Amino acid sequence: MTSPYELPGEAIEGFDTLVELALDLSGTWKHATDRIWRELDTTLWNLTHNPWAVLQAVSHEKLARTLADPEFRNRLDQLVRLGREQHVGPSWFEQNHPGAPFTAVAYFSMEFMVSEALPIYSGGLGNVAGDHLKAASDLGVPMIGIGLLYQQGYFRQLIDSDGNQHALYPYNDPGQLPITPLRTANGEWLRLQIVLPGYSVWLRAWQARIGRVTLYLLDSNDIANYPAHRGITSELYGGDAELRLKQEMVLGIGGWRLLEALDLHPQVCHLNEGHAALIVLERARSYMQRTGTDFKTALTITRAGNLFTTHTAVAAGFDRFSPALIAQYLQHYAEEKLKISLADLLALGRSRPEDDDEPFNMAWLACRGSGFINGVSQLHARVSRHIFQPLFPRWPTPELPIAHVTNGVHMPSWDSAPADALWTRACGKERWLGCSEPLAMSIRHLDDATLWQFRTEANRELVEQLRERLAHQLATAGATPEAIESARQVFEPRIMILGFARRFATYKRPNLLLHDPQRLKALLTHPERPMQLVLAGKAHPADRTGQALIQQWVRFIREENVGHRVVFLADYNMQLTEQLVQGVDVWLNTPRRPWEACGTSGMKVLVNGGLNLSELDGWWAEAYAPEVGWALGDGREHADDPGYDAQEAEALYHLLEHEVLPAFYTRNEEGIPVGWVERMRESMARLTPLYSTNRSLPEYVERYYIPLAEAWRDRTADDGARGRRIVNRRRQLDRYWSEVAFESVETESDGHQHRFRACVRLGELTPEALLVELYADGVSGRAAICQPMIQNVDFSRSGEAIYETRITSYRPVTDFTVRLRPAPIDLISILEDPRILWQGG
Ligand SMILES: *Cc1c(COP(=O)(O)O)cnc(C)c1O
Repeated sequence: MTSPYELPGEAIEGFDTLVELALDLSGTWKHATDRIWRELDTTLWNLTHNPWAVLQAVSHEKLARTLADPEFRNRLDQLVRLGREQHVGPSWFEQNHPGAPFTAVAYFSMEFMVSEALPIYSGGLGNVAGDHLKAASDLGVPMIGIGLLYQQGYFRQLIDSDGNQHALYPYNDPGQLPITPLRTANGEWLRLQIVLPGYSVWLRAWQARIGRVTLYLLDSNDIANYPAHRGITSELYGGDAELRLKQEMVLGIGGWRLLEALDLHPQVCHLNEGHAALIVLERARSYMQRTGTDFKTALTITRAGNLFTTHTAVAAGFDRFSPALIAQYLQHYAEEKLKISLADLLALGRSRPEDDDEPFNMAWLACRGSGFINGVSQLHARVSRHIFQPLFPRWPTPELPIAHVTNGVHMPSWDSAPADALWTRACGKERWLGCSEPLAMSIRHLDDATLWQFRTEANRELVEQLRERLAHQLATAGATPEAIESARQVFEPRIMILGFARRFATYKRPNLLLHDPQRLKALLTHPERPMQLVLAGKAHPADRTGQALIQQWVRFIREENVGHRVVFLADYNMQLTEQLVQGVDVWLNTPRRPWEACGTSGMKVLVNGGLNLSELDGWWAEAYAPEVGWALGDGREHADDPGYDAQEAEALYHLLEHEVLPAFYTRNEEGIPVGWVERMRESMARLTPLYSTNRSLPEYVERYYIPLAEAWRDRTADDGARGRRIVNRRRQLDRYWSEVAFESVETESDGHQHRFRACVRLGELTPEALLVELYADGVSGRAAICQPMIQNVDFSRSGEAIYETRITSYRPVTDFTVRLRPAPIDLISILEDPRILWQGG
């Protein structure tokens, strides 16, 4: 262990164990670990949840005294021992995939939400990345995280008494973060270089330990750098397009170089969103250098090991850069390193390569450099197939090769200590370490009284926490002692708490509940069935509209005098999320369908017995059933029609008034709301295992990582023989594709038996180079019909071939079309060669 700072307790017996515990972020999801830090410094721990900072701040005397306490020592040693043991026993991965074709997956992401103590995240994207790494540690999937260390992270939020948001950028002293500098074998700080126009930039590297997984972080704040470059990694999602491009160069190009410097050779690279797309270029470059091949071959071979996960539901969500900016930053790289022209590079990020004005789209690059693409919910994959359509001209949208893995959350990170205890009693300690099928049954055995008691406690605990937090918030904003005191009186235990916390982006409609302020006020102050509402969320500093929505809430609370029932908590972050998802009775989500690609916050309440009330969008569109929660919307898209928003607001009030609140307050003779508890139980049993990383990570392993690693292995075998073969075949196709045509298509039909015979002009291609198919669009909800046609080998005329098939179908012969495309020999999917030719088209 090397620390940049002297720690107070170096010499004390047992101190090493504390250091080990503090620097392993897997401690963040173990409730027993929290207790250790709380005992060392309650205030600092509660404020920061940063064990490393606690360890630095605590006095020598306190450390010596605490470590000398046998009970404390015992607990500490046991925690560390248990942690180590968990990592030596056979994991889910070792048991289920003993011969897996990969030894490492490198996971690239612009943000990671792992712990409050490591503020390098903004929201959902980082959440998915962080929870994925944590699950990899739990399930023993060999994974390496690659990200950036931001000196200031995402902005911190202050809200003044008039509801104005102020963005703050406190500096994160890396020495106080639970990470360590990455050193080479001889003790030198590992530094890497990437080239920007006219300058080299030095990158420093850090590591964060998350159980079995290491997260490597790069930063440019090296004193050897030109001042403008020191700030490249200062803010997450700050600055302009130029800064973003530089950050993405650090992540993609620098990230791959870091792996090489560490002698790590992942077979699979997982791109979490298009920000990381430059990795595909650098991975190909490194293959070129090692094997002496050209770029095209190198990309064909290495793309087989890349997976691209897209997270946006609108085309405008992708990073796009002007051709001039790409030229400025990457022309030299393209020409000198990849040995391709700038035009060739630009073509990789365009849907129409010949269009000089089309910007360079990082998602298009990721797509052209990956073996598979996936969306993050079923609905999102459908939406993505439309967004990616420009890359697949003339392909029917449903056939586009974009499937989905619905996100899951890492339950141990989001459960409360009492929820952990409840689940442990019902399902055992190992419940999130592998197969989760038996969980549902065990949860269904929990009785009403136990569940309701658990929920009532959670509600009470949240009331206390939010009083504390609000008082603190007001004090920081300079409120009067009276105001601060009255903050300690807001809310009442046992009144239903509705929670809404997320980015204040317009599409999430954070003000939907404010549509009719009086109706909302009536809900809040109802004499028998009142409701309490807790809100939180940041609006991006450039998003004025989002900030106005925050202000609208703050003003409503003040003007309607409902501060005892509604609070807006500032600075939404991971720690606040934990408190909210553990305590709310109902979690509300009101996105405009289909703009919430998945959404994860609602999944975090499941393990804690909270219920979801959400628009049928993202994950809820597939998870919802009347037995597990409430749905808003008709499951269709209505764009941003204000009339429809109003209608949905009405529906939301109606649902609260007539279903949600009555269910909460209708009690049996023991004071238990039986219907509510039934929903709770079913939501916990049915949804928690499904929407956990315990389901999503194995899906990634089995559907993507293993096939990709196999494809990559095949393509790199024999010096890349298969890769070269694919490139040669495609060169042939490039040359002769324009000559390929349907000479004729003859059809014959006797009622339901149709016969098709297509004569195809081949140019110089062989008949085997093409796949000819009979196709009919899907109708009335049925899948499309598609069947290969067989070459008639008796026919021989140079430059032509006949393909035939017959089909029995109730559909008229005129529904069918013949089409042809390159034979998919050796290809992973049409992602690699989307050419297609239609009869008559
Ligand atoms: C879970 C979480 C998110 C993502 O929530 P969504 O419902 O997907 O918007 C964002 N920010 C924080 C701090 C979170 O904990």
